[in-house]
Amino acid sequence: MSKRHPIAEFDLINDYFADMTSQRGDVVLGVGDDAALLRVPQGMDLAVSVDTLIAGVHFFPDISPVNLGYKALAVNLSDLAAMGAEPAWSTLALTLPEVDDFWLREFCRGFAELAGQYELQLVGGDTTSGPLSITVQVHGLLPMGKGLTRGGARVGDEIYVTGTLGDAAMALDCKHAWADRSDLLPLIERLERPTPRVEAGLALRGLASSAIDISDGLLADLGHILQSSGVGASLELDKIPLSSPVAANLQGGEEWEIIIAGGDDYELCFTLPAEHRDQVAAISRRSGVNMTPIGIIEAQRGLRCLQEDGSLWTTERTGYEHFSSRGGET
Ligand SMILES: [Mg+2]
Repeated sequence: MSKRHPIAEFDLINDYFADMTSQRGDVVLGVGDDAALLRVPQGMDLAVSVDTLIAGVHFFPDISPVNLGYKALAVNLSDLAAMGAEPAWSTLALTLPEVDDFWLREFCRGFAELAGQYELQLVGGDTTSGPLSITVQVHGLLPMGKGLTRGGARVGDEIYVTGTLGDAAMALDCKHAWADRSDLLPLIERLERPTPRVEAGLALRGLASSAIDISDGLLADLGHILQSSGVGASLELDKIPLSSPVAANLQGGEEWEIIIAGGDDYELCFTLPAEHRDQVAAISRRSGVNMTPIGIIEAQRGLRCLQEDGSLWTTERTGYEHFSSRGGET
């Protein structure tokens, strides 16, 4: 393993991020000391999540730096959304092959654009030299004991998803055709600039019995809820909300694998006791974020995907009964 050297000749935070994110009153001490000092308000829990994006693994090396900065933060805010936490603070670790001033300014612009929507303050950063990778840690706040978790789904709860599924995975699947398919542009936007469902997550506190954000595909992530909650579920494929470009590309059965096992959606999947159905419908109308019931939690373990005619749909990629956990991403 090669030794990694700090990039000594520049100061990421002061040179590029100074004043680009908001200045919060609960930051006792921000950038400039050995550590930031952050004050968690009394009666609040702190939610912490971290994600690493690696060039060639999590994003195409040709993604624009402004979109990369946006996405690096978006995927982390999506995790806070799934917990029902309000974004507060963030740290950023960049590994860079070289110090490219234009690239860094654009990256920071994308990061700050999204941070500015949530009063999120960047309170620390680190840079090292090496192949491009980005690690963002986010800290969010929520009333004590009110966090949404994966473990609360109960038999009879309805399963909901926000937004539409399969947009990013379809964009990836069609990447060879991007140049001459203008109908794919909205899908590329969804891949490169996902919208974290922060407001939806906050509104679902106290209503949803469990929640997760869909980063690895609906099957895998709903699977985490089922496993943590000790329950099973049935899904109705024809109820899964699709954007018009994805619906237009739905020719046979094969696309379902892309849509529900492809990943990168960054929508929320949550379970809801029936008595809260009207409240969620009202939240959906008020926020403009679609929240669609797609199935039901059952006592029988495993996940059953039902087609329109009632027959079971199966896939080799993620077996409907015996799908396994696909690793450590949260
Ligand atoms: Mg997650």
